[in-house]
Amino acid sequence: MGNILLFIQHVDGKVLKGTLSALAAARELKVPWQAEQIVGVALGSGAQVAAKEMLGYGLTSVRYSENGLFEKYRAEPYARAIALAAKELSATSVVALASSSGKDALPRVAVLLEAAQASDVIGVNPDGSLRRPMYAGNIIAEVELLAPTRVVTVRSTAFSPATLEVGGSECSELGLAGDPELHEQPRFGEIVGYEMSKADRPELSDAAVVVSGGRALGSAENFEKVVYPLADSLGAAIGASRAAVDSGYAPNDWQVGQTGKVVAPNLYISVGISGAIQHLAGMKDSKVIVAINKDPDAPIFEVADYGLVADLFTVAPELTEKLRGLRS
Ligand SMILES: Cc1cc2nc3c(=O)[nH]c(=O)nc-3n(C[C@H](O)[C@H](O)[C@H](O)COP(=O)(O)OP(=O)(O)OC[C@H]3O[C@@H](n4cnc5c(N)ncnc54)[C@H](O)[C@@H]3O)c2cc1C
Repeated sequence: MGNILLFIQHVDGKVLKGTLSALAAARELKVPWQAEQIVGVALGSGAQVAAKEMLGYGLTSVRYSENGLFEKYRAEPYARAIALAAKELSATSVVALASSSGKDALPRVAVLLEAAQASDVIGVNPDGSLRRPMYAGNIIAEVELLAPTRVVTVRSTAFSPATLEVGGSECSELGLAGDPELHEQPRFGEIVGYEMSKADRPELSDAAVVVSGGRALGSAENFEKVVYPLADSLGAAIGASRAAVDSGYAPNDWQVGQTGKVVAPNLYISVGISGAIQHLAGMKDSKVIVAINKDPDAPIFEVADYGLVADLFTVAPELTEKLRGLRS
């Protein structure tokens, strides 16, 4: 009953690891949703390279477009092109990573295709119903999409990236003539430019180890003095609680939690973070959680595998020194 279309998210042709997680979810959906094939669409600069790469992951047919319309991400043209590709490739479902752009474009795709949508999906049941978190992960809802056309965004941390599979060979340019509105001038806004943040540390969402700091650090200087070296001694990415971000100790894109990034590294070290539910929503699926907090009753200890009840200004530098010693 129709195909599943994967929205291939990439940066200049480099496929995001999360796209492979979305593909893993699409593979799980294939049988219960009686889909024939998994097909794909990639847009923007480098789309052709990304599209070709995905053929190696078992996608039978992929469309790409490097038209100037897609050079800088905007929800409107992206949504229209994804919907167009879905129609062209006989897809009755669309699956994408629940990244910022995935969460932005896919609801519009759902409107264009008159589809039912589930966002931030973390699991697929054998009967094709879906699991997704609600209320900062305190409730896991079971959702069944009853419409004949379905749109899904998936949380990358919930699905292991798909592995290579014998695939198809059909990769061609997406014809845009099918939707005259695509070529209209932007109606709501235009991206004027990007300023990329430069970082030597791993990307927070993909990192194997994350060290996060909280309000207890007390200042940006302390955050830099205590959290940075601890993270660097482990080759870790740095995260922060919202309180730390709001207080200006750490940049916005480091925020972990309900309104920040969702991470699930092998090791998550929280330094001076209380463990409010909104923070836990972004890190509680980490494989090993280490918490440093001077309050033995801090809620973070309820999810921590290892807890250190101590003053962070004493133990974090000590830990850093020990780890540096081990490394050298
Ligand atoms: C709608 C909504 C969305 C939100 N989204 C997010 C989100 O995405 N991410 C997020 O993090 N929060 C989020 N919050 C905020 C959240 O509720 C908490 O306010 C926030 O996480 C608290 O940050 P914190 O743990 O750093 O600070 P606090 O709660 O103030 O905790 C500081 C901790 O440090 C400990 N401490 C103090 N001094 C020391 C010391 N010297 N050594 C060791 N430990 C020490 C204290 O015992 C305390 O436990 C959200 C809130 C709302 C309402």
